[in-house]
Amino acid sequence: MKECIGVFFMEKVNPFEDTLQRLKALTRYSGKDGVRFSPDDLRVLESPKRTLIVNFPVRFRDGSIRIINGYRVQYNDARGPTKGGIRFHPKVDIEEVKALALWMALKTAVLDLPYGGAKGGITINPKETSADDLEDVSREFIRQIHMFVGPTKDVPAPDVYTNPQVMAWMLDEFEKIKGEKLPGLITGKPVELGGSLGRDVATAQGAAYVFREAAEEYDLPAGATVAVQGFGNAGMNIAKILSSWGYRIVALSDSKGGIYNENGFNVSEVESFKEKNGSLADFPKAQKVTNEELLLLPVQVLVPAALENQITKENAAKVRAGMVLEVANGPVTREADDILHRNDVVVLPDILSNAGGVTVSYFEWVQNNQGYYWSEQEVTEKLERKMVAAFREVHELVKRLDIDHRTAAYITAINRIIDAEKKRGNISQKRQV
Ligand code: NAD
Repeated sequence: MKECIGVFFMEKVNPFEDTLQRLKALTRYSGKDGVRFSPDDLRVLESPKRTLIVNFPVRFRDGSIRIINGYRVQYNDARGPTKGGIRFHPKVDIEEVKALALWMALKTAVLDLPYGGAKGGITINPKETSADDLEDVSREFIRQIHMFVGPTKDVPAPDVYTNPQVMAWMLDEFEKIKGEKLPGLITGKPVELGGSLGRDVATAQGAAYVFREAAEEYDLPAGATVAVQGFGNAGMNIAKILSSWGYRIVALSDSKGGIYNENGFNVSEVESFKEKNGSLADFPKAQKVTNEELLLLPVQVLVPAALENQITKENAAKVRAGMVLEVANGPVTREADDILHRNDVVVLPDILSNAGGVTVSYFEWVQNNQGYYWSEQEVTEKLERKMVAAFREVHELVKRLDIDHRTAAYITAINRIIDAEKKRGNISQKRQV
């Protein structure tokens, strides 16, 4: 399908089909040292285990009745209850949710969390919807899917344009239906309802640990320049952390556009400006850039932290950064990956780099299940250990097989998923009793 973006007609990449192609390409590594799956085993990941599509009416406060479309995809549950966020966005569709659910299955496996992968979405524009209407939509969505989710079945969390408040409404509705307290239903909750300390910055904090390890491996100079696309929970916090570590944040953006200043920004100042004005696009003391231009700036590190399909075969060759830290899910398409790899750009893949969020979600669920809560310092230390171990494991495979980090992360994840499927007897293996 072609879509008009600015003056270009670009091929719209289906992120799910693109990921299936990535899985197919892995068959060439079958039989290599450290690869424990055969091409045939990969068939188990060709489609999601369960898909729920709900269409439900909600009466908005202006009296109108809207039909809301919602999705929940449970991709693979061989390693445990499925886990993944719920996205509110006007462009959410089933193909996107399937891709996001598959990435979650891979992500929980790379981090060796005892989970499968899932994702949910509601096609809605939260910027044009009142908080009261969003609450009604959130509660009704849970009434529609409550039989499908639960602390030992499928555990949602926040994603794009959802937040702890939305999680609180969903948890409250679920507990009313079930007639009992079940805080392990959902993660990314407010701390008052059993949320974990450190969850709000976990995605960015985890990405920062991966980046720190990679920066050391690739001798990135102190004070290197960084451009961050997206200034939400993930993007703003990674900008703040990298800035506090001495990196120069020279470009930032949100959905309304971007700003560039080669001398670097004080990120907190930009945050206050965005809070006051709704967007950072008119921040003074900066040159305006579009979101597309931001990706091609002369920086050392590029951090896509907004949406998928940002670096494609159309612009990948023009990326000037030497390292791409994928904080968003799926910002680089498969064909773009090949171009970046050929140009020696190190891409730190989403399923590794942004896994700090689901890792602290896992810690939150563990705390809920045991009813005993950890200090922020304990959470952060545990997160650091998990992220560093995952980076090291993936990086070892990069060196051993002379492959890129995404391929290594995919192999690491799929090894674990296939091992679990085999132990369950879902995939044939030589029987040893
Ligand atoms: P968010 O809703 O907090 O922020 C999204 C940001 O992206 C906003 O600043 C918005 O203005 C900007 N944006 C939206 N459309 C854009 C566009 N077309 N161009 C540039 N910017 C645009 O969302 P978030 O939680 O920060 O998520 C961002 C990305 O990180 C997503 O891909 C999400 O799946 C991924 N992610 C988030 C978490 C998490 O815990 N929050 C965890 C893992 C991955």
